[in-house]
Amino acid sequence: MSPQRLSHIPPSFLITLPQGLLELDIADRIYVDPDTTTRFSTDFGRLTRAPPSAVLYPSSPDDIAALVRFSYFSLHPFTVAARGCGHSVRGQALAPGGVVVDMPSLGRGRDDRINVSRGDGSSFWYVDVGGEQLWIDVLHETLKHGLAPRSWTDYLHLTVGGTLSNAGVSGQAFRHGPQISNVYELEVVTGKGEMMICSHNENPALFYGVLGGLGQLGIITRARIAVEPAPERVRWARLIYTDFVSFTRDQELLISMSEEGFDYVEGSLLMMDHSLIGNWRSSFFSDRDWEKVKLLASQFGAIYCLEGAVYYELATASSVDQVKVLILLSSPMQHVGRVPTIISSQDPRRSTIDVVKRTVIRVHKLDSFLKQLSFVPGFAFAKDVSYMAFLDRVHDGEMKLRSMGLWDVPHPWLNIFVPKSRIRDFEIGVFKGILKPNNSMGPVLIYPLKKNKWDEKMSAVIPDEEIFYSIGLLRSAIMGDWEHLDDQNDEILRFCHREGIEYKQYLPHYTAQTDWMKHFGLKWNVFVDLKRRYDPKLVLSPGHRIFTSSLIEHVSEQEILFLKLY
Ligand code: FAD
Repeated sequence: MSPQRLSHIPPSFLITLPQGLLELDIADRIYVDPDTTTRFSTDFGRLTRAPPSAVLYPSSPDDIAALVRFSYFSLHPFTVAARGCGHSVRGQALAPGGVVVDMPSLGRGRDDRINVSRGDGSSFWYVDVGGEQLWIDVLHETLKHGLAPRSWTDYLHLTVGGTLSNAGVSGQAFRHGPQISNVYELEVVTGKGEMMICSHNENPALFYGVLGGLGQLGIITRARIAVEPAPERVRWARLIYTDFVSFTRDQELLISMSEEGFDYVEGSLLMMDHSLIGNWRSSFFSDRDWEKVKLLASQFGAIYCLEGAVYYELATASSVDQVKVLILLSSPMQHVGRVPTIISSQDPRRSTIDVVKRTVIRVHKLDSFLKQLSFVPGFAFAKDVSYMAFLDRVHDGEMKLRSMGLWDVPHPWLNIFVPKSRIRDFEIGVFKGILKPNNSMGPVLIYPLKKNKWDEKMSAVIPDEEIFYSIGLLRSAIMGDWEHLDDQNDEILRFCHREGIEYKQYLPHYTAQTDWMKHFGLKWNVFVDLKRRYDPKLVLSPGHRIFTSSLIEHVSEQEILFLKLY
């Protein structure tokens, strides 16, 4: 059924939203019918359900500004939540009784919302991207110029505004920082409905506040993101460990290497659960290798998989042959799939000789680095894929789960950052303790990040240690048993509290303001000040439930005049 507009107004709308909304120019882009509001009442987590009273399908950032401004100046302001794709798991993009803004509408039917440019009089490049754009589309568009952003998430079908409101982490973050560390400028609609440009130099408080700010201070309508020459190919390796200490020691060694080292480092726990749901992100292995890995996992109960990647470019036929020979002859690894034979240089800005030299050196170094690592002999696997196939790897798993009806199930995910000094305690208490009797029911990610790649001024919160681990328990409740998995999550957090492990939740979820205060720690007062300044009536992003008490300040006479004019 197509959405109905304001001509059919349900009584619930009139109870929760001011009638004046019907008189705005954007009224024909506001939908209130139950089909629409029901569709926007939950998210990927499927753990929370709360319908909004209306949904705005904006055709421009001005539509969003008009909506927020109207709420801000209303006698009884209503809440507004930007919704990217709703990939949150705890209702963070919901607006119970308020208005959800369907961000993808901004880009629908338009091809001018991703623009690659060169900085004035300089050699650096950037891409201006609508906040509603998916990272996969940003990748496609920038690759047309031989360029790409350098910091990613594992899954690219997320919106730019959605990940920048959190942080955006993946295996490149140890080198380039999270996605929020790679932004030059933002265009934001604040909680007062003002459209503001901010950057390191212009309105810096808003800029730093919005990055990792959980949508509390503004809705990102455009982001200017750093790009670099895109590699063509990726040598992608997985190394298996039976010993956690060697696994983390090797991960830390790899992230300590210079630019010539790995470009991507992640890792995961492999438990005896060999079902698709336990390993949907693992299309990497051949059937034969997977059997071998499974056998090892059943002998040890749980094993660890270090995942690393080195980017490289292809140049001329002869250079590719050199690379192929190097890959095949000097590698201690078993190859999964074929070694590439593509013979082209796509980037005229780089000298072929340099590309060849760099590629040969890198592949050679990669193999010499591998000799320093302590994975189980015979359990190193490698594959060569295009940069695009590597970055979009999780999408394959999504397609498989969708085809089996296993994608739209409850996802009681838990993501936490654990300081390096306590990762061994965490392993003993959680991987060998709380999770041991279970099948994993989904991927469990474990990889180190570096604090010095995060900007302390931004709102994102991390542990106070130079190296910390990103732990992602990405479990699916396929039997409808999400409460059980959620109880386990609580048990994990209780264990951390009991043992004094100073973790921080990533994609955080709390129900009490005291927990939010603890989460933000020293950043709390700054965050509250910014909220007072940019969203004093608590209009934005109510789904997080951070600000339950009123921060409302008196509306100034100037603002009342503005309201009358408007
Ligand atoms: P939504 O869920 O729609 O919104 C998230 C929050 O941001 C809400 O509070 C919303 O109000 C706010 N918001 C949305 N758009 C804007 C905007 N334009 N301006 C301001 N606020 C906005 N995260 C990682 O860091 N790394 C990963 O590797 C990773 N992998 C994932 C894989 C899968 C399969 C899934 C489902 C999620 C993954 N995530 C990952 C989590 C992801 O970053 C979050 O779900 C994030 O919220 C982005 O999703 P979204 O774009 O659908 O945003």
